[in-house]
Amino acid sequence: MSSYVISAPATPTLAVAGQDSRFPVRRVFCVGRNYGAHAREMGSDPEREPPFFFTKPADAVVPASGTVPYPPATDDLHHEVELVVALGSGGADIAPADAMALVWGYGVGLDLTRRDLQAQAKNTGRPWDMAKGFDASAPCSPLTPATTLGLAQDARIWLEVNGALRQEGKLGDMIWPIADVISHLSRLVRLEAGDLIYTGTPAGVAALSRGDRVRGGVDGVAQFALTIA
Ligand code: MN
Repeated sequence: MSSYVISAPATPTLAVAGQDSRFPVRRVFCVGRNYGAHAREMGSDPEREPPFFFTKPADAVVPASGTVPYPPATDDLHHEVELVVALGSGGADIAPADAMALVWGYGVGLDLTRRDLQAQAKNTGRPWDMAKGFDASAPCSPLTPATTLGLAQDARIWLEVNGALRQEGKLGDMIWPIADVISHLSRLVRLEAGDLIYTGTPAGVAALSRGDRVRGGVDGVAQFALTIA
């Protein structure tokens, strides 16, 4: 057995609903602009673009419960509620018809975004990493195994801040359905068990403030409630 010159970093994990065993997180992929109304509110034409992807560090994943820190270096932290797909197996060049067999389970999470830094990055042609991949930028609910639920096309995805509805859509509103997202991504990288995919957000993204109480969910899948510290 090999030893390390420093303590080996812990594997980030997510809880699984109704089980003691946890889901180990390998990588975090996110889809940009996967709901037409959100793409339009961000100033692009959703009909003309194939899906594009960005990433967050695996240890950006934290439980979507309790308190989540307000990050440094921003004055415009935005919420994006998203269905999270957790892969139980991987592969490359996966056909859409074979893609759903890779899915281990589902959760609901937040793609937290420093919108001010993202706007600067867009304007200067620089990377999005510090706008998207900061500490605790990917809160996620416990996962539910895919074998125990059926994802309905009309399932509602929603987010409330301090009791007021901010975001609402239906899973069927996705421009690229889950199978197509997995297929496209698998042509860019070899997917592996433990990978998470944040599948995009419906319209209504807006700023969060310290002390905000945030609730979100996908009906029939999961819910979460957290406070911005
Ligand atoms: Mn997003």
